[in-house]
Amino acid sequence: MLASSAIREARRAGIAAEAIVPVGSLRRFAPDVGDVTLLALVPQSRHKQVLRGFGRLPIVADVSAQTSCSVTISTSRGAITLHVTPPEDAGAALVWHTGAQAHVRELQARALQMGVQLVDGRLLSPAGDPVACAREEELYERLGLPLIPPELREGNGEITAAERGEIPPLLTELHIRGDLHMHSTWSDGRNSIADMVSAAKQIGYEYVAITDHSEHAWSSRKLSPEDVPRQREEIEALRTRVHGIEILHGVEVDIMPDGSLDFDDQLLAGFDLVLASLHDPAGQRDSELTERYLRAIRHPLVNIITHPANRSPAQSHGYAVDFDQLFAAAALTGTAMEIDGAPGHLDMDGALARRAAQAGVTIVVDSDCHRVDGLGRQMRFGVGTARRGWIEPRHVLNTRDATEVRAFFSRKRGLA
Ligand SMILES: [Zn+2]
Ligand SMILES: [Zn+2]
Repeated sequence: MLASSAIREARRAGIAAEAIVPVGSLRRFAPDVGDVTLLALVPQSRHKQVLRGFGRLPIVADVSAQTSCSVTISTSRGAITLHVTPPEDAGAALVWHTGAQAHVRELQARALQMGVQLVDGRLLSPAGDPVACAREEELYERLGLPLIPPELREGNGEITAAERGEIPPLLTELHIRGDLHMHSTWSDGRNSIADMVSAAKQIGYEYVAITDHSEHAWSSRKLSPEDVPRQREEIEALRTRVHGIEILHGVEVDIMPDGSLDFDDQLLAGFDLVLASLHDPAGQRDSELTERYLRAIRHPLVNIITHPANRSPAQSHGYAVDFDQLFAAAALTGTAMEIDGAPGHLDMDGALARRAAQAGVTIVVDSDCHRVDGLGRQMRFGVGTARRGWIEPRHVLNTRDATEVRAFFSRKRGLA
């Protein structure tokens, strides 16, 4: 991550800031993260020194802009802008630089009604005198509002909701009790099942599902039907050796062009859970894609539809399938829909996830990780995306314990 490596470098270079934090779209977990924006809390007397120091970090290729309170550098991995603020204005500055613009504009209008001004990251009296505002809570309180989580600050109803006390208790990482989607060296993952399980255990998960790709996936390596019994043996052996975490044997099976599944029912029935997804660039009409998904959702062995829009933040908006139909079918059949935290997916995005939850669909937040070192980070992106969708712990399957999760899967199979 560019932001965290810049913060580390600044710290190593001894830049005398009390804190440097990511702001902007990064802090809001917005999928369209463009340039990285950071905010440093620094007493006024040291602003110049800190900005100069930041412009000289080893990662800097060029200083493209500098003012008395910001500097923009370019690096080989993209541009970074650092803003500085005195700690006594930190609350107002955090809100200002976190955005989104639409949210800040609404706050500005509200501030005027309440006899203050929010200008350039500072709170001012009508006469232009500074009003100290060191914490974000203070700013919102000043405007008669509770703190609004950064992920909700989009200017689409969150201020009215806050005014009415209707900001829900959002999902946090601490609510997540297990990860139901990850890959091992049996398909295109980099690490063994044992390594993935041990990384999950270190995070503190109570359960984990290993879900490698089926035969026809558009992936570099995949699981063949002949591999499945051997993989199961490996998992069973691991279960006797590793305690304190439950290991579920799953699969991410491809939905074929006609809506059937890549593995036959007999093979699928042997897994603890079945994830189903599309990986191909489709090339089918949206109505055909909708039908393809509906067949999978109605299949009694399919438990979770992964990355349903098949979008990628950098490249595509994803399928324009009839999500209302998919959500209705998913809610009816007890099929969960995933928020995939892999940076290449972030799918469902916040808006879609919110619609799914409103339609009564059970949500799953997963890392879809392919290597041990991304397991926690990708879950963090998944949770951030869920929060953008106003998702609460009660909407999410993997906030429940392993017994309840297994019961959710069995119910669809008609075994419960
Ligand atoms: Zn996938
Ligand atoms: Zn996957």
